[in-house]
Amino acid sequence: MIRPTKGKTPRRPVPKKQLNNQKDPVGVYCRVRPLGSEDEECCVEVISNTTIQLHAPDGLKANRNGEFKETQYTFKKVFGLKTTQKELFDDVAKPLVEDLVHCKNGLLFTYGVTGSGKTYTMTGSPGQGGLLPRSLDMIFNSIGPFQAKRFVFKPDDKNGMEVQNQVDALLERQKRESQQSVPKTPSSRQKLDPEFADMISPEDSSKAEGVDEDSSYSVFVSYIEIYNNYIYDLLEDAPFDPIKPKPPQSKILREDQNHNMYVAGCTEVEVKSTEEAFEVFWRGQKKRRIANTQLNRESSRSHSVFIVKLAQAPLDADGDNVLQDKNQVNVSQLCLVDLAGSERTSRTRAEGNRLREAGNINQSLMTLRTCIEVLRENQMCGTNKMVPYRDSKVTHLFKNYFDGEGKVRMVVCVNPNADDYEETMLVMRFAEMTQEVEVARPVDRPICGFAAGRRHRNQAFKEELSRRLEERGGPVDGEPPSALGQLLQSLPQLPPCEISDPADDVTFPRVIECLEKRLKIRQMLTGEYNKAANMLKSMLQDLDGKLISKENFIHDQQGKLGEKDKMIHNQKNEIDRLEKKSKMLEYKIDILQKTTNIYEEDKRVLQHELETREQRLQRELSEKKRMEARMQGFVTDEKLRWQKECERRVNAKELEMQNKLWVKDEKLKQLKAIVTENKTENRPDKPQRPSREKDRAPAKRSASPSPIPTAAPVRPMHRRSHSAGAERWVDHKPLTNVELDTVMQPNVPNAIKVTAPSEKALSKCDKYMLTHQEVASDGEIQTKLIKGEVFKTRGGGQAVQFTDIETLKQETPVAPSRKRRSSENGPNQEQNKDGDWTDVETRCSVAVEMRAGSKVGPGYQHHGYPKRRKP
Ligand code: ADP
Ligand code: MG
Repeated sequence: MIRPTKGKTPRRPVPKKQLNNQKDPVGVYCRVRPLGSEDEECCVEVISNTTIQLHAPDGLKANRNGEFKETQYTFKKVFGLKTTQKELFDDVAKPLVEDLVHCKNGLLFTYGVTGSGKTYTMTGSPGQGGLLPRSLDMIFNSIGPFQAKRFVFKPDDKNGMEVQNQVDALLERQKRESQQSVPKTPSSRQKLDPEFADMISPEDSSKAEGVDEDSSYSVFVSYIEIYNNYIYDLLEDAPFDPIKPKPPQSKILREDQNHNMYVAGCTEVEVKSTEEAFEVFWRGQKKRRIANTQLNRESSRSHSVFIVKLAQAPLDADGDNVLQDKNQVNVSQLCLVDLAGSERTSRTRAEGNRLREAGNINQSLMTLRTCIEVLRENQMCGTNKMVPYRDSKVTHLFKNYFDGEGKVRMVVCVNPNADDYEETMLVMRFAEMTQEVEVARPVDRPICGFAAGRRHRNQAFKEELSRRLEERGGPVDGEPPSALGQLLQSLPQLPPCEISDPADDVTFPRVIECLEKRLKIRQMLTGEYNKAANMLKSMLQDLDGKLISKENFIHDQQGKLGEKDKMIHNQKNEIDRLEKKSKMLEYKIDILQKTTNIYEEDKRVLQHELETREQRLQRELSEKKRMEARMQGFVTDEKLRWQKECERRVNAKELEMQNKLWVKDEKLKQLKAIVTENKTENRPDKPQRPSREKDRAPAKRSASPSPIPTAAPVRPMHRRSHSAGAERWVDHKPLTNVELDTVMQPNVPNAIKVTAPSEKALSKCDKYMLTHQEVASDGEIQTKLIKGEVFKTRGGGQAVQFTDIETLKQETPVAPSRKRRSSENGPNQEQNKDGDWTDVETRCSVAVEMRAGSKVGPGYQHHGYPKRRKP
């Protein structure tokens, strides 16, 4: 808001800075114009109502190996080919005009390549009015009835506005009218220049809501052009010399008390209607055209700035006049800017010139881009870089829009022609970036301290007054007299005032008397009227006071509301921050959870592995124990076996030895018997030579002197009768024998089986067989069947004469070397040693006498004695 003064009235609360912490991004809109002709190549596509897509033209694609792809750009809104001027206005400019009448500043500019439709968008053409004429129309539609008389508001040439009183304003009006410098408001649209007639059809007109009716308004317009970084006033009334044209004087920029920039000495024309305003604009436009032609300038390279200033001030308490207080004047402005073409080169020039101007970049647009970039960086990164507004006039002029507050909007115009592709792409990038810049939101205008509805009341009063004054002439026939009429009637009637002769001294005094009476009544009435008026006035003042206090209260409340709003905003920010934080934490938790899961999985796998290993270990351990037990068992078995084996071998050896001894003894005995028999035949008393076997025998014999010596027959002449040929066997199997599971079991039918030889058994049989087991040298058990014949001895006992020994032997097939028969001569020397007594001749020549009670072991009790011989 452009504030003309330093001081502020105490009634106006100044929460402006406090409340103004809200920002809005620059609103960027994109408008795509139709192609110039159908055979032009198109490179732009409207994808949605916010997005457009650029695709590289075919030629360019081929050149760059398809490096260029489609690029998309998003804006607040995209307007396609069929968008009407009205639609665009409603979306883009209408809110700015609404802001303007509510004391807020706005900046609207069109940006784009030359020929993209900037001027069409801003100005339009007859029947197709652009944003500018439509904005003017809306302004006047909104404030029309509330406009102040011309020259009530007066620019102070310092970007401020003064208020003149009615009389001064009237005088100035008369002065200007006489100079004929004030443009006459055209009475109707029909009278307009056909060049810009019918810009807006009446049915299109818009109106702002909520216009303060208790204010008075005035619109001032200025129109400037910035060319080559010089500012020219297009409305200046400089006399133009067509023969020797003077170059127009450029203007300078100044900063007012409120740090707003303005063009010093720039013409500001007060306009009272859309038509008048547009006519002023058109005047400037014409001037611009002429200057461009005369100075051979290119219009596409200049920026045109149309400034609409709206001054508004509250009506006084009566609602009659504008309040004569400069501090109460508010000035807001709307700048409508048609920027120069954004291309880097001049397109309209010939090829040679184009080359020459190739590097001639439009400096002010470059600065605009830089400023936007720096602003954006400062805002987004929190940096505090200096924004180079001063580098060009355009940016310098609008500095306060970006630094201060206001609404900034930009319409980016696009020509879909493929020729413009590269330039258009640059435009799009800049436009997208611009959207990221934020501008402080303008605050609402503080409420003026006067009661609302003043204008309305004043109007009603005036109407009533004029009505009453009309009635003053007296009652119309047939109607009751009004109060004023009654009052007038109560005055004494004037006597007839005709003077018939100069000496008439009756008429005059009568008239004088009557008039005096009337005067008295009048004075009385005036007094009463004054009293009533004063009373009314004080009453009104009271009411006003109350109203004001109420308004102040409302104001306070609004202030508090603002604070609460701020608090809510802060808390919202805090909530946002916390939400972000919580999201972050959630994310972290998620990650930790995932990590935990991974670790747990690892743990499970390792545990599983551990378990399997432990199981294996356990298994191996138990296996080991089992093996140990088995080995132990095996060892004890083996030990036992070997113990038995050893015993058996010892026994066998013992037996063998005893047998040998016995055989020798027997031989000796038989020899002795032969000798003794011969001697007995000669000398029966001759004592017998004692033999070892007969150590006890002589004692026995001496104890029982039997005439028959107990001697076994040497020859087998006394064999028992073999009647019927059936021999009876004594099958002697000692208990110590091991049951062998083999076929080589001697099976003797009709035998008496004994485990020890008895005289009884021997006496019944004539054949004897001993099954003798022994361990052979190879460790195998070998069974010997020792067979003999039983004889009756002369002493009545039984004797056995051994006739045959059969050897049964089991051989293990795994030891092929031992397969040799035991009888054969082999490497086993022991076998050979044994061989001498198993020899057939030896066996057959041996006679054995059984002897009971022999100590050689049960298996070899071959000597049988009758039991009766036992003591
Ligand atoms: P710029 O000002 O960007 O150089 P102009 O506004 O002068 O471009 O437009 C160039 C031409 O294109 C003009 O003849 C204009 O009437 C036409 N034109 C531009 N935009 C549109 C549109 N949206 N619809 C129809 N014609 C258009
Ligand atoms: Mg243009």
